[in-house]
Amino acid sequence: AQSHASLVEFGQKHVTKGLGRVVEAVITKAEGSYVTFGDGRQMLDFTCGIGVTNLGHCHPKISKAAADQCMNLVHGQCSIAFHGPYLELIQKLLPMMPHPSLDSFFFWNSGSEAVEAAIKMARTFTGRQNIINMQGAYHGRTFGAMAVTKSKTIYSEGFHPLMPGVFSLPFPYWHQLGVPVDTPSSKMSEMCLNQLSLLLSQATAPHDTAAILVETVMGEGGYVPAPPEFLKGLREICDKHGIMLIIDEVQSGYGRTGKNYAIEYSGVRPDIMITAKGLANGFPLSGVISRKELTDKLKPGSMGGTYAGNAVACAAAVAAADVMKEENILDNVNARSKELFAALNALRANPKVAPAILDVRGQGLMVAVEFASPVGTGPYDAFRNPSIPEKLASRVAKRCVEKGLLILTTSVYEVIRFIPALNISKEDLAKGCRIFAEAVEEVVN
Ligand code: PMP
Repeated sequence: AQSHASLVEFGQKHVTKGLGRVVEAVITKAEGSYVTFGDGRQMLDFTCGIGVTNLGHCHPKISKAAADQCMNLVHGQCSIAFHGPYLELIQKLLPMMPHPSLDSFFFWNSGSEAVEAAIKMARTFTGRQNIINMQGAYHGRTFGAMAVTKSKTIYSEGFHPLMPGVFSLPFPYWHQLGVPVDTPSSKMSEMCLNQLSLLLSQATAPHDTAAILVETVMGEGGYVPAPPEFLKGLREICDKHGIMLIIDEVQSGYGRTGKNYAIEYSGVRPDIMITAKGLANGFPLSGVISRKELTDKLKPGSMGGTYAGNAVACAAAVAAADVMKEENILDNVNARSKELFAALNALRANPKVAPAILDVRGQGLMVAVEFASPVGTGPYDAFRNPSIPEKLASRVAKRCVEKGLLILTTSVYEVIRFIPALNISKEDLAKGCRIFAEAVEEVVN
């Protein structure tokens, strides 16, 4: 057998440099909230493969459902015929929708593809072209999705020109508005909605605007929940002008925030909703959901994709929907969320680290800690002063990994995100919080 070190070396030589990596290692096994590497290290996983394996790695019921499906039908092809798991999944999802009007489904493989489909649909439904997105948004890496992504230049640097017709609005996040960290979200929402009025009167007329696209919790832009009044304001403006409201729940959806979909916190009705990541607990599957009255405007054949709505992925998703119910996942999310916030707020109250922590925020088990920049006021310093040391958040995340906790940063700001499995145990959550607290103390002092 090849040694772990030689395999890593092989990967470094032959896997494209275009991929970033948190750990220079080979994952050999993963189970529940733990990941094992070929060098023998085992880590507690607070990443869930970026918010995907929400019911734990290799959940036995989901893996079995996928294995069973493999013996029956692997590839049905959605443009040839219906297949059972596709329809069964819709039956499971219908009662979980945040609004009963969401009754027309199209499954894809990835979040990016679903975003592309949502943009095509919005253009068809309205006969208009332009899209309003949010500063700091992340929607994916394909050309349309990349054009509406504004969280980091690394996603588009060197890849221009992008899809035209995209107009960006500030998101109610204090960094973007240049206001103090404790500015009430109602104030920030009002500022952003005013900007929207300006955008619609100065840059893209309502009659040229097909959709407003927004993440319910801005993920790659810093783990910032959209305030309900902001989402309600967007809904009102969409209603007034016949603009489609596209809600991207790829990262925030499917139990992650303690509701089936985070949009439920605002009660706002999406015209189009995008779901992916946790939907099939690791199998590639995404969904674009709208209402039949609108999707009836699509010409047959205008949507499709070789692997779209794959039978094994759908069977895994059916099992995942069952597990969500059987294991009372939302209850666990809400209980563990309280403990996570308590642990992080206790850390923030610790005088040794308090000055370094600016903010603890999030919903359910989609939670972030934002640090004060060690150098100045924010990410802008990196541009002004190339000699600044590595970001504090990155150093904390690295220290956590050394201590056996796999954890991710997010955004151009100093943010660490917590995305543990939704069925994580009380003990494992506490263990991860302890490791994090130690790492912060060591790094900031
Ligand atoms: N939308 C959001 C909100 C996301 O977080 C992501 C992935 N991080 C995507 C879209 C793109 O999904 P995928 O990587 O599956 O294409």
